[in-house]
Formats: sequence, C-alpha cells, structure tokens
Amino acid sequence: MECLRCDGKLEKKLATIEAGGISFTDEYFVCSKCGKMYPTKDQIKKMYESSSLRKLSFERKISMSGRTYVIRVPQTLEKLYEIQVGKKVKIAPLDAKRMLVEFE
Ligand SMILES: [Zn+2]
Repeated sequence: MECLRCDGKLEKKLATIEAGGISFTDEYFVCSKCGKMYPTKDQIKKMYESSSLRKLSFERKISMSGRTYVIRVPQTLEKLYEIQVGKKVKIAPLDAKRMLVEFE
C-alpha cells in the first residue's frame, strides 16, 4: 500500500493517534516518508466508540468564501475523518437545528 499524500510506502507500526485530547495507541499503517497514519476501519470504529470522544463538541462561526458559507472543521475532526481536499461528503438535513455530514 502507498500513502495517498506522498506515494511513500506504508508500514505497520506501533503508534499513537491523538483525537480530542485522547490517545489511541495501536499498530497503525504509517507512511515511511511523511509519517501520515492510516488507521483501519475497525480501529476508527474503536475510536468512535470511546465514550470520551462522543462527548466532544465544537463551536464555530459561519464565514463566507465568495458567495458560499463556510464552516471550519476543527483539527481533531480533520484527523479523525481524514478530511482532505477533494474528498466527497453527503450532507442531509436532520431537523430544524441539525444536519448530518457523512463521509464515504
Ligand atoms: Zn506519505
């Protein structure tokens, strides 16, 4: 497997991922060139199931970019959901105050 960011080789290594002030130590696929970590789906599931992670919430102000509204994503979530330019998400309204952002 190769790194999506730099084409470096992925190696399985014992490493720690920080998310929301919580450390998750496990054997992750890590890029030998840039150090980007690639947790597996099961590892990500384990992180989401951590009760302290589900208590996280962030407040952001809506800003404008041209004529489009922008909500900035906190770094913690950026890492957790592997957010990057070009990645597709589905957005769906849930009710009057909430909407769902789903990553593929
Ligand atoms: Zn890399």
